[in-house]
Amino acid sequence: MKPFKTLDDMGEITGKVVLVREDLNVPMQDGAFSDDTRLRAAMPTISELSDRGAKVLVLAHFGRPKGEVNMKYSLEPVVAPLAAVLGRPVGFMMRLTPDGIAALANGAIVVIENSRFAPGEEKNDPEMAKALASLGDMYVNDAFSAAHRAHVTTEGLAHHLPAFAGRSMEKELDALQAALGSPVKPVAAVVGGAKVSSKLDVLTHLMTRVDHLIIGGGMANTFLAARGVDVGKSLCEHDLAETAEKIMDAADAAGCTIHLPYDVVVAKEFAANPPSLRTCNVHEVAPDEMILDVGPAAVEALADVLKTCRTLVWNGPLGAFEMAPFDAATVALARTAAALTKEGSLVSVAGGGDTVAALNHAGVAADFSFVSTAGGAFLEWMEGKDLPGVAALMQQVGSAAAAH
Ligand code: ADP
Ligand code: MG
Repeated sequence: MKPFKTLDDMGEITGKVVLVREDLNVPMQDGAFSDDTRLRAAMPTISELSDRGAKVLVLAHFGRPKGEVNMKYSLEPVVAPLAAVLGRPVGFMMRLTPDGIAALANGAIVVIENSRFAPGEEKNDPEMAKALASLGDMYVNDAFSAAHRAHVTTEGLAHHLPAFAGRSMEKELDALQAALGSPVKPVAAVVGGAKVSSKLDVLTHLMTRVDHLIIGGGMANTFLAARGVDVGKSLCEHDLAETAEKIMDAADAAGCTIHLPYDVVVAKEFAANPPSLRTCNVHEVAPDEMILDVGPAAVEALADVLKTCRTLVWNGPLGAFEMAPFDAATVALARTAAALTKEGSLVSVAGGGDTVAALNHAGVAADFSFVSTAGGAFLEWMEGKDLPGVAALMQQVGSAAAAH
């Protein structure tokens, strides 16, 4: 049994008013949408609720209007693209009223104006939650990417209405559970990216949960430097040497093997295919060189590690992948992970803004078991934090509130 309720647990919902929290915070430039990923993610839940005859009231935020009405952040421009993705009509309401709701036909879909126009939303004001809940019969949270915030529409409503995870939320929670909740062992984690300081909590959480911790990117330089390697001009947080040492000691004690590159790709300038480009052993980096990628020999060894593992969680590129050829290690290891996933020997879960971009660049995002686009919420989950929006859904299981 899942630790949260899903749309399968809602029972008969014909004519019921369902408040659905979605993530419609789509990238927009000059009134045009550049990417409909989030709209497509909202589709399964909205379509299903509508097909089952509910009155579907879609709650979502857009931008940061800070509790004030500001038409620059209106959700109205999202209505037409959402209708196009759904292939059915979508209405729009400035505010929810009992009369407005009563006038809706069963199966109607209506987007409600930006939840953050209300000053109570981000304060998780219980009065606002109560008032909003009184207008609906059930609450569905389908926005994992907003679940690290305790706001009225992401958390508060779950305390006043029977609450259920939407299909996208369910998929995300299932994937995260499979990756770190109760993963099949051995488990590997790849943690890369620019800085150790931004991922300290991730490293600390992972080292007690995974068998192999693969450190790449700029972060690896800090660990190498802590081990006495001269990393030249590389991005490196020398002031974190002691922290890096502590992490390595704690990982050792926890039985987690830390993998650092032993060969690297270096250059004197960060540019595409620079003349100074070369591959060398980590002990041979010159004072005027920068480490910009993990070397080919290390990547091969890392691929062998993945072949022995059954679960992989990945956040952060292994190198400065935006510029060729410093994408090579990330692309190669991502392809190995994708191939192992396709063969059925590996469950692979990845997330993070640049990580998703890197996997798309490698052409393998679709071959991973799950790629999270949730950004901040994904990282907080990697840090082992309780996400308030998810915790509120979990409280529903076995609680009186669920006995509707
Ligand atoms: P995510 O967004 O997936 O969480 P991060 O933001 O932590 O990932 O890291 C991505 C950034 O790290 C990229 O901009 C990449 O260029 C940078 N990076 C990776 N390796 C290096 C390196 N060796 N030196 C400098 N920057 C690096
Ligand atoms: Mg990033």
